[in-house]
Amino acid sequence: MNKNDFPILQREINGRRLVYLDNAATSQKPIQVIEAVSSFYKEHNANIHRGIHTLSEEASNMFDSAYKKTACFIGADHFEEIVFTQGTTSSINLVAASLLRTRYWEDGGEVIITEMEHHANILPWMDLLGAKKDFVGIRDVAGLKVAKVKKDGTLDVDHLLSLVTKKAKVVAVAQVSNVLGTINPIKEIVKAVKAKSDALVLVDGAQAAPHMKVNVKGLGCDFYVFSSHKMLGPTGVGILWTKKEILDKMPPVFLGGGMIKEVHFDRAVWDDLPNRFVPGTPNISGVVGFSAALDYLSNVGMDNIAEYEDSLCGYALDKLSKENGIEIYGPLKDRSGVISFNVKGIPSHDLASILDMDGIAIRTGHHCAMPLHLKLGVPSSARASVYLYNEEEDIDALIEGIRRAQRIFNV
Ligand code: PMP
Repeated sequence: MNKNDFPILQREINGRRLVYLDNAATSQKPIQVIEAVSSFYKEHNANIHRGIHTLSEEASNMFDSAYKKTACFIGADHFEEIVFTQGTTSSINLVAASLLRTRYWEDGGEVIITEMEHHANILPWMDLLGAKKDFVGIRDVAGLKVAKVKKDGTLDVDHLLSLVTKKAKVVAVAQVSNVLGTINPIKEIVKAVKAKSDALVLVDGAQAAPHMKVNVKGLGCDFYVFSSHKMLGPTGVGILWTKKEILDKMPPVFLGGGMIKEVHFDRAVWDDLPNRFVPGTPNISGVVGFSAALDYLSNVGMDNIAEYEDSLCGYALDKLSKENGIEIYGPLKDRSGVISFNVKGIPSHDLASILDMDGIAIRTGHHCAMPLHLKLGVPSSARASVYLYNEEEDIDALIEGIRRAQRIFNV
């Protein structure tokens, strides 16, 4: 990995070197991805699966080759098991909306999630269980069960399993928390859930797939979802993986051109996989860029990335926990490089503004995990999150920035 591959990291913010620690929100892009997108538009741009002309064939081949590459990247058996969406959010919404249209959901059922889920892995299930068409929002949700997070920031797996009964239809859980950095034992959870029920298990891999080797078959789950933009790729591309036998039975939710074999005014026949889930014109250049991102990550090696980030996260946790007045949320070991914290006496938004003056980018707020913040008893937190191009000097800069904020606030 060469840090110089990332042009934006050469930028200065407020006259200072950019220290980008907001990777859980989105990652920066290497020149290889930027050039893949740019050269697509300069040399190959056309709509896919529509034309006989050379450009359309080139664009179709570039788009279609990304299915195989993605399947291979996550250890899936068939390229037809991949659906490109707009992001993790749209992948989960697609699963929930599609299940609602199947026999599987005919007589309802229960959904089990956890207290550490991102809103994207809460709301689609609440909607499935309790959407009221005459109400702006969701109310009267019945059948949603929420597994507890323990005081140390790990998931209470026993509690989760105690919620799983024969009524369970879906268990939806993040592999890595976007607030606590907790890495959940997905393989064990899936095995235990399957021993107790026929529930389908969806894994939100948005914060996992960018940072560690994922093998969906090894995990044993039924759905795995993640986003391109958090793993060096463009925005607007999401991935939904599910087993072919499940996807075969899932009705498409978005209908239109490109996903049909036949359309008459009294019937329509859907196309084969994966085209059945490509309604209209997809984000072709985005998928091409994502393909280049997968090449980049594979060249560096996901195990190398995980090992490097683990040591950088250990360095950061060690340094932060030695500072005065910092409360860190989440486990202190066996976790991912997403570190949420609050500095006593400094509202997190003020902290972020002061850090920004030093060119340091972190995120503040509830990080789309409002229920978890209510549980933590804080309205918001500051979040520093690392990726493969961060270095110890970035953590040192963060610590210096926090000290400066403490001096300004006189705490
Ligand atoms: N789940 C988790 C755990 C996330 O961190 C995020 C992004 N913050 C999402 C889902 C939603 O991803 P996207 O915005 O790419 O749809």
